[in-house]
Amino acid sequence: MKTITGASLINSKIERYKESYKLMNISMTEEDIAKITSDCKLIRNICDECKRESEVTVQIGEELDYESSTAQICLECLEKAVFIAKKSL
Ligand SMILES: [Zn+2]
Repeated sequence: MKTITGASLINSKIERYKESYKLMNISMTEEDIAKITSDCKLIRNICDECKRESEVTVQIGEELDYESSTAQICLECLEKAVFIAKKSL
């Protein structure tokens, strides 16, 4: 379980690019970094439950990977989930 913010999404995308460039044995230029940073402005932190953009979500489930069972849930949906669960006790 970890906290996801807009900044953490951008940082993880930049890290993935760095790893890809390294694997291809290509040096990353200032132009490449500027392009990646520009593309990152389109990244949105979306809650998997309510589908709304949120400043902060919590990633739960399996470690995020291709076809992993992972969900990013906003604080409001987390609070609703806790409320529903507590009502069932
Ligand atoms: Zn939500």
